[in-house]
Amino acid sequence: ATPTALLVGTGRGAQLGILIKGPQVLESTRAVDTVVLDKTGTVTTGEMTLVDVVPADGVTDTELLRLAGAVENASEHPIARAIVAGARDRVGELPSVDEFTSETGLGVRGTVDGHRVVVGRASLISDQGDLPSELASARAEADAQGRTSVAVGWDGAVRGLLVVSDQVKPTSKAAVAQLRKLGLTPVLLTGDNAAAARAVAAEVGITDVVAEVLPAGKVDEVKRLQEQGKVVAMVGDGVNDAAALAQADLGIAMGTGSDVAIEAGDLTLVRGDLRVVADAIRLSRRTLGTIK
Ligand code: ADP
Ligand code: MG
Repeated sequence: ATPTALLVGTGRGAQLGILIKGPQVLESTRAVDTVVLDKTGTVTTGEMTLVDVVPADGVTDTELLRLAGAVENASEHPIARAIVAGARDRVGELPSVDEFTSETGLGVRGTVDGHRVVVGRASLISDQGDLPSELASARAEADAQGRTSVAVGWDGAVRGLLVVSDQVKPTSKAAVAQLRKLGLTPVLLTGDNAAAARAVAAEVGITDVVAEVLPAGKVDEVKRLQEQGKVVAMVGDGVNDAAALAQADLGIAMGTGSDVAIEAGDLTLVRGDLRVVADAIRLSRRTLGTIK
């Protein structure tokens, strides 16, 4: 395409709410045949709410919420925001946290009121021991409802479960239908549990689901598809998506997401509306339509 055509395409993109890193990005956009979508914050709003508090035997709701809320207060993750808001609602001011650390895609740790607290997925919590049976059944129930649960542990035992719930963006189902209409294959990729992933996939019409992956696993999944000869667009919003956005043939960041993701992407969707992915593909096909 002529430089002029590419510049016009870039300008038209801006009108559609697409920020394009450079004119050449339109070329990779046109070649895409597979669109990998992160779940939380990309297909869903990422505005989670705390819907269930399940303390282990001998632990109170208040203790569980104070300690978990205090640690999550230092995290930016959507799960963390839900836990902090829910905890403040129920127990008021949260204590401060020391020695906070965050493991991307796994969870967080910190010291609160002299306790060494861990909040996160099963693999992070396993160093605290097994999930007590009363929590295992609560987790199975949350899974069945397509909700996300995280475990809370301190001082060497698993002390409770917090269940959060997210909503699919109202535009996501239409966005997936538009991608299919353009001949693209959508894939849902998430660090969340398989049941929550399947529930969201079913709601928006995606059949290919890869769940419970670590951030490094997201990169591996993009590579695997590329090795099969696919030209892959990756759409994501989180710190945990940045490496996969960079690996993809086309990285698409949600403008509502983290700065790290936006820096790693080739395109940014200003409003975080997934229907604009199809707009971008159509735009690139129109702009470059005359060349082979
Ligand atoms: P997604 O791929 O859907 O955006 P992430 O990779 O960000 O999900 O997170 C994967 C999982 O890691 C979450 O479902 C949760 O179990 C755990 N996790 C990540 N960050 C946190 C946190 N701040 N607090 C608790 N759990 C967390
Ligand atoms: Mg995300």
